[in-house]
Amino acid sequence: MTSTLDPLISLGQQYYLPIYCQREMILVRGQGACVWDREDRDYIDFSAGIAVCGLGHNSPDLVAALTEQAGKLWHTSNVFYSEPPLHLAEELVAASRFAKRVFLCNSGAEANEAAIKLVRKWAAAQGRPPQRRVIVTFNGGFHGRTLAAVTATAQPKYQQGYEPLPDGFRYVDFNDAAGLESAMSAGDVAAVMLEPVQGEGGVMPAAPGFLQRVRELCDRHEALLVLDEIQAGMGRTGHLFAHWQDDVTPDIVTLAKALGGGFPIGATLAGAKVAETMQYGDHGTTFGGNPLAAAVARVALRKLASSEIQRNVQRQEQALRGGLAAIGEELGLFSEIRGRGLLLGAVLRPEYAGDAARILDHAASRGLLLLQAGPDVLRLVPPLNISDEEVAIGMARLSDALRDFAA
Ligand SMILES: *Cc1c(COP(=O)(O)O)cnc(C)c1O
Repeated sequence: MTSTLDPLISLGQQYYLPIYCQREMILVRGQGACVWDREDRDYIDFSAGIAVCGLGHNSPDLVAALTEQAGKLWHTSNVFYSEPPLHLAEELVAASRFAKRVFLCNSGAEANEAAIKLVRKWAAAQGRPPQRRVIVTFNGGFHGRTLAAVTATAQPKYQQGYEPLPDGFRYVDFNDAAGLESAMSAGDVAAVMLEPVQGEGGVMPAAPGFLQRVRELCDRHEALLVLDEIQAGMGRTGHLFAHWQDDVTPDIVTLAKALGGGFPIGATLAGAKVAETMQYGDHGTTFGGNPLAAAVARVALRKLASSEIQRNVQRQEQALRGGLAAIGEELGLFSEIRGRGLLLGAVLRPEYAGDAARILDHAASRGLLLLQAGPDVLRLVPPLNISDEEVAIGMARLSDALRDFAA
């Protein structure tokens, strides 16, 4: 923190709830995988607004969809129909290969909140008493900040001070099939909820075969499989849905982040078992699925599902992994590069544990926006249409930043 603060930044320090530690820069515009600050310094954006801007910044197709809809109709509420969300719902169901119905909302936490309520309502409709409606989630997972979503988030740092938390959640170690089996043995579990790749919790992919094992246990114990693809979905792993790679059929999938390409929208996709569970009056939202958000999301969905994007994700994953491995080896910084597609984590060696935030500072001063996933992991989630040149510049800047850090 500098002592002579930019007057505009000081407004944030004075008036925002101090729940973030923003970098002392003000971003004013973006193009592709590059953003510029008020001083016209450019940054290669390996953060993409936290895995949101899957098509980069200022994508002409998204801008066209937004501005065209902006001239027509912004909001109707959900007591009236409008065109864009009707089409989006149909397109999401078709793209998902499993869902029958969709609930549109505004964010990831809301999509998960709806999923949690849907699980509870489904179990209730089967005559299960409240104590037999347990939802199992995994240590290190992240599901959002509303009270139920944060309770599903099995990480104490997000929960402390918010007690009493809602009842009926149980935590198991990620990728621990035996642990899950014993957590379900009492027959009181209504659903298992997880991310195919844990994002915030350190970029930790489900082990090969783990999701299939979870599906089997859910089937055996009549529990629903809920996949939170808010970060891993929408093409980021090289498939439109991350779980396609795991070859399982979920009962509920939640989406948000990249679904709107930067415009806020979330979705809860409901498979056959739960599509008719919620009826008139059971849930709602004022803004969810509004025409502006839905118009943008339709275009984002179509583009992110394209084979062109899938090919680029594979290509740039190779480039980033190669670059990270080379720098990491030279400087002896990383113990592991993990993740899937363009959701990559570089895990710091034990001697650099806790240094991710400092590396992010060095990266920003070299013109690169990076994220961390916990204190020990650098997280790279660039736009999925990032170019060869942008990747090359970003990796050169990362190399400089890591040298600054190591020096
Ligand atoms: C970001 C995220 C959420 C929460 O989404 P918000 O839009 O911030 O509410 C939930 N789950 C996962 C996996 C996420 O990455």
